[in-house]
Amino acid sequence: MKALVYQGPMTMTLEEVPAPTVGDDDILIQVRSVGICGSDVHGYIGKTGRRKPPMIMGHEFSGQVVAVGKAVQRVAPGDAVIVSPIQACGHCPNCQAGLTNICTNRHVLGVDIAGAYADQLVVKESMVYPKPAGMSWRHAAMVEPLSVAMHAVEITPIPLMGTVAIVGAGTIGLLTLLAARLKGAGTVIVTDKSPHRLEMAEELGADLAIHVDQQDPVAAVREATDGLGADVAFEAVGYAPTVQQALAITRTGGHVTWIGNSAQMIELNMQEVVTRELTVRGTYGFNKEFPRAIQAIASGRVNVEPLIERVAPLAEGPQIIHDLATGRSDLIKVILEP
Ligand SMILES: [Zn+2]
Ligand SMILES: [Zn+2]
Repeated sequence: MKALVYQGPMTMTLEEVPAPTVGDDDILIQVRSVGICGSDVHGYIGKTGRRKPPMIMGHEFSGQVVAVGKAVQRVAPGDAVIVSPIQACGHCPNCQAGLTNICTNRHVLGVDIAGAYADQLVVKESMVYPKPAGMSWRHAAMVEPLSVAMHAVEITPIPLMGTVAIVGAGTIGLLTLLAARLKGAGTVIVTDKSPHRLEMAEELGADLAIHVDQQDPVAAVREATDGLGADVAFEAVGYAPTVQQALAITRTGGHVTWIGNSAQMIELNMQEVVTRELTVRGTYGFNKEFPRAIQAIASGRVNVEPLIERVAPLAEGPQIIHDLATGRSDLIKVILEP
């Protein structure tokens, strides 16, 4: 079968690789749609340290079941499915508490085990959800990033009609905007430095889209909030300047949720967190939000269609990822179809 193999920083190639073997509790999936995630692009650059070559990335996907192992009960060949990429152990204390996203024995498809930039891959039964009949393969591939955004929003206390600031208008930032609306946000402010992404934020309903190179985001958010700052901020980039910005635009006593996951060590103003009593919280993946994200898309409550800016065959993946990594392309969501 064909797969995109990450060979090392800035190198990914289409290769012929052995098809995966199907163990007793494995499900073999033919990938139909797989999204390119910003974290894959960062991984491709080679600085995050979260993806070790050689490996196959890809964790946002839908596909068709080809074969199942002897112990598989709920899933049969031919089923159309959406796969949660988080493989949890099911017995650690976090799993027992339902927090499978922070399973202490966690593996993630396309991050530390073989992912979906391939014709086929194997997954476990606990990761598989039926794809609603009316949902396209592409929309099904958007369930994973929407789940990330919904989990961030779920764990953040957004006051009804409160002001929400989102730093970074990539796919996750934009889906966080849509999820925050579902949860009753009032004014939603989005910051970025890409005019294209800011336009998309406005198209998706942002009240204010701030270009950080043209406007001081702290002053602009204060002006929009009677001098107070946002009730909550979501950081969806993961580097020092954007983390600092997220803290600075949040009101005293407010909540800041970090979704971005790019730099390891950053510098921030600790006194600002202490003296303004900010609550800073990290968020990783999702748990119960995955089936809710399926419902949100299937019911039309969240429309992911505008974010999908390109659909391409798997073979074009390396060039597209290279262009995204070098800034030659500014597409929001690209879907590959093996
Ligand atoms: Zn992702
Ligand atoms: Zn566990």
